[in-house]
Amino acid sequence: MMMQRRASARESALRLWIERDVAHDRHLVVTIDLGRIRSNVEAIRQSCRVPVMPVVKADAYGLGMLAICDCICDLASAFCVFQLEEAVRKNLAARTGRRVLALGPPSSLDPEVYLTHRVTPSVADVESARLLRKARPALCVDTGMQRFSCPADQIERALRAGECTEIFAHGTRKEHAARVAEVAHGRDAFRHVAASALLLEPDSHLDAVRPGLAMYEGAVEAAIPLHEVHRSAGPAGYSEFEGPYHGVILAGYAQGLRKGPCLINGRLSRIVEVGMQSAYVSTAAQDRPGDKVMLLGHELTASTVAAAWGTSPHEVLISLTREASRVYRY
Ligand SMILES: *Cc1c(COP(=O)(O)O)cnc(C)c1O
Repeated sequence: MMMQRRASARESALRLWIERDVAHDRHLVVTIDLGRIRSNVEAIRQSCRVPVMPVVKADAYGLGMLAICDCICDLASAFCVFQLEEAVRKNLAARTGRRVLALGPPSSLDPEVYLTHRVTPSVADVESARLLRKARPALCVDTGMQRFSCPADQIERALRAGECTEIFAHGTRKEHAARVAEVAHGRDAFRHVAASALLLEPDSHLDAVRPGLAMYEGAVEAAIPLHEVHRSAGPAGYSEFEGPYHGVILAGYAQGLRKGPCLINGRLSRIVEVGMQSAYVSTAAQDRPGDKVMLLGHELTASTVAAAWGTSPHEVLISLTREASRVYRY
């Protein structure tokens, strides 16, 4: 008896320690403005005048799928993930009362799994369409992207095999939407193409829009406190960078950081060298430990940072959110 009690006390002490440790080692904090996300989706809905199917794949671009879905549920006609498992893991359809569409290739060919979890599978070939017919699959048609999409010569047979009444494509250009409209012409089908890049193209909205990135615009801030500040004593770091002052933050490659712009006390500055779990920033004489270094937010939009990093705003967002602690505000 005694032994057992001691063991479980030690176990819970260990668990407590681990929890505290995990919290403490996440210095990078992402603040997510749910009210702003909601008003972004409202604006999209009003300007597009078609149902909105928010894309919440990859845990809503690292912002937390359930928190995001809960706050925009009544504005959404369905939610989009990439794979079935993302929806199953979070019990998404039951939780939101909305259908879920898995945009990627089917990870199961058992229709019952999709029916149980209210997930619509996407198919791109005759055989998958036939096997998943009972789950009323959506057909993803090729618009030139040439990945998990149905080539033109199989469309007719796949539509018939799956009795598909939903036709879509991955779309960022007007021609993609035009191609889907052409395939669906003369059929009674629910058609959609438009990701964020097509929201300003009314002809491309078809029967629904699927925004991801546009929902999060202006709603995400990533910040970390200055851990140390130094008046430089000559070239510093591995790269021997030079400058009168520098600071250190406790996030690095492992937290998705790269060299590029940041805001220190609201002033535009730079991340000058990145290590595995720390990075150097260029500071000024008045900066102090604890002062705020912003990596994303205000004038540092995901697009601005993406231009500096030479990548997409999607990658910036997921990189900086994935390993951060999250704070939600409304
Ligand atoms: C990710 C994705 C979207 C959303 O893209 P954004 O550029 O984030 O709006 C829409 N459709 C498909 C098929 C996607 O994979």
